[in-house]
Amino acid sequence: MLITELVLHPIAISDPPLRSSYGLHAPFALRTIVELKTDSGLTGISETYGGDGPLAGLEAVRQRVTGMDPFQLAGLSRDLTAEAAHEMETTPAGGRTQTYLVPGENPLDRYARTFAAIEIACLDLIGKAVGKPVCDVIGGRVRDRVSFSAYLFYKHGVFSGPEDEYGEVLDPRSCVRECRQMIARYGFREIKLKGGVLDPDVEILTLRVLRDTFGPAYPLRIDPNCAWSIETSVRVGRELKDELSNGGYLEDPCATLEGMAEVRRRLLAENNSTPQASNVAVTYFADVPRAQALDAVQIVLSDPHYWGGMRNVQYLSHLTSVLGMGLSMHSNSHLGVSLMAMTHVAAACSNLTYACDTHYPWQTAEDEIVQGGRIPFVNGCVQILNRPGLGVDLDYDQLARGRERYARIPYRKRDDEAEMRQHVDPAWKRVLPRW
Ligand SMILES: [Mg+2]
Repeated sequence: MLITELVLHPIAISDPPLRSSYGLHAPFALRTIVELKTDSGLTGISETYGGDGPLAGLEAVRQRVTGMDPFQLAGLSRDLTAEAAHEMETTPAGGRTQTYLVPGENPLDRYARTFAAIEIACLDLIGKAVGKPVCDVIGGRVRDRVSFSAYLFYKHGVFSGPEDEYGEVLDPRSCVRECRQMIARYGFREIKLKGGVLDPDVEILTLRVLRDTFGPAYPLRIDPNCAWSIETSVRVGRELKDELSNGGYLEDPCATLEGMAEVRRRLLAENNSTPQASNVAVTYFADVPRAQALDAVQIVLSDPHYWGGMRNVQYLSHLTSVLGMGLSMHSNSHLGVSLMAMTHVAAACSNLTYACDTHYPWQTAEDEIVQGGRIPFVNGCVQILNRPGLGVDLDYDQLARGRERYARIPYRKRDDEAEMRQHVDPAWKRVLPRW
């Protein structure tokens, strides 16, 4: 089986006005759907970041991929790793941190992102060729269903057009309402709040009200995307000691591994062992042992899209296990192909210690591009179906609508700061730490 064609579908999907420390989500999120056609008649698919940058990265490997055997991925990995290493050498120290960039937008991750998009489509092909689900192709599942968390956001009401199902959420009470709606619909059993948006005292109150409402059976985590100083991080960690215990965590409270290590030291000195997770200070393999040595991060957030594919996430699962660390999964706005890639790899990670993140509840059936529509959740979990590959096929009518939407809009790169200036605060600039 040889790859005969790489087909790229740039699409746009509706996205609600969600807030984070970066700013505001634009009304459209950008994705790229990848198809690898082969001489066997099988087609492999994947979903990755959208817009000009990711598209250019994939275009750059078009020739390299055409004619490739999808079973032989190591050569492509070697070549892209070498290009990434060259770029690392020529980038000033510290240039790799994602702190000031929207997750997944780090230019130094582009080789890993490009490889991941190709690898996942190849694994889908291999699964289809051998008649096995991808999770079993990559070594076998350790679970049949994968648990995801309720990913809560503070958000505005929709600025133009019909209101979304969650409405405005800018205080603790409405956040509880959002959580109730999400849990009623999806059955999630863990709760994550995207913080760094409102005054830390309001966010502390939000977590307290969530705990009072849902009880300790629902572990809580908060992710302010580095919006807090070390001082504020320690204060929030102290105030939320009870709420973040029992399976919760503090995610990227402040910038840098050194900053997080200091927060950890000060909290431990107060007998507060709330673990810290990161998808900002730890974004590739070399970060992991350093994070562990500094005791800055106890839980690494994986993501097949930018960690270099599904098997790299399995390696990360092994590495974190060896180092005595936990593993969870980061997410970006995505549709069903990505959700199934995340589910398959999570199913095949022996060291997965928390429910994974997903933005899926924030997308709608109108935009879904897999046949049969939205992927169902049962009790907060996505089930591995006994189907070959990722187990989903493209709905080409829906895909065409996504492409038309993409062609119609001016967005070609995610820019939450610009969106924030346009709709909320003309003077907005991302400042770290804000509090
Ligand atoms: Mg995060």
